[in-house]
Amino acid sequence: MSHYLYILQSKSLSKFNIGISENPERRLDFHNTITKEIQMIKFINGLPKAELHLHIEGTLNPELMFKIAKRNKIEIKYKSVDELKKVYHFSNLQDFLNLYYQGAEVLRTEEDFYEMTWSYLEKASSQNVLHCEIFFDPQTHTNRGIKFETVINGIHKALTDAKNDFGISAKLIMCFLRDLDEDSAIKTLQEALPHKDKIIAVGLDSAEIGNPPSKFKNVFNLARNEGFLTVAHAGEEGPANYVWEALEHLNVSRIDHGNNSMNDKDLIDQLVKSQMPLTVCPLSNLKLKVVDDLKKHPLKKMIQKNLLVTINSDDPAYFGGYVNENYTAIANALDLSKEEICKLAKNSFQASFLDDDQKERMIEKIDEYIGTHQV
Ligand SMILES: [Zn+2]
Repeated sequence: MSHYLYILQSKSLSKFNIGISENPERRLDFHNTITKEIQMIKFINGLPKAELHLHIEGTLNPELMFKIAKRNKIEIKYKSVDELKKVYHFSNLQDFLNLYYQGAEVLRTEEDFYEMTWSYLEKASSQNVLHCEIFFDPQTHTNRGIKFETVINGIHKALTDAKNDFGISAKLIMCFLRDLDEDSAIKTLQEALPHKDKIIAVGLDSAEIGNPPSKFKNVFNLARNEGFLTVAHAGEEGPANYVWEALEHLNVSRIDHGNNSMNDKDLIDQLVKSQMPLTVCPLSNLKLKVVDDLKKHPLKKMIQKNLLVTINSDDPAYFGGYVNENYTAIANALDLSKEEICKLAKNSFQASFLDDDQKERMIEKIDEYIGTHQV
């Protein structure tokens, strides 16, 4: 009688079960499970996609944070990269934001913003992200004395260089911090006007509860009058009513997150009817306890209801995965089919701010990929 060593990996990819068995079927289970998962990871990695919900300050990984801090002669309160990584456990959005703002303090020069942005684009390109729409938070920097120009010029130069080097296209979305007042947002909008050509839209992020979209109605009106498109985080921790407010008061073209829309039947009907995109971020939702288990994530229901949902990484340096890891984790947790995954990738282009011809070309690339990778 032979004995077989088996290793079974949980669907969430977080646990392994190792043992020895006389039953060859256990070995077969292992083989089939791993083969299926590896095939899925490879399929997702090669799939052309866009990323639409990505905070550039949330891509500042610990290694880069330490490197930039050293260059700028800034003391970090953690002794090493490992010690810093150990504190990346959050009980809610605010808990994460405290660390996020602390991390961003190392960013001082145009070179810092360039290097952070370049590093993300290099990673995204390696994951077959062909187009991305990137958030940046100027107030996080201008409030500590960094010039608006320093921030935007560093980021923008990296976008231009990455387009030339990797062919990845990118657009910038300037977010207002919703825990600050509207006057501060208006001042930021005025600072952005000389750089209008570099920014496609304005958005709303940071601490959601207690800071409803209606608080920013005037600044969003001003931004729209200047020709900016609008998006807003809504329904992540906040109620479905905040999503209504973003639609009605801010005239958004996309809702970022939108999970709690699922609690309001009329809102779901409205989002489906208008095909309003939702930029969903599974690993972020898990890390910030918006869901306590990815198996309970509403994404599958959203797809079944024909909502225009997309997969994104939000703040990948803090949440344990870039866009492909988000696709893989949610595909495993919810048993998504390859057809559903391809639909999510097509949605990512459909929901983007590319023009119609560009969208069509990108979606054709997905169809070509499907043609050569059995779906
Ligand atoms: Zn976000």
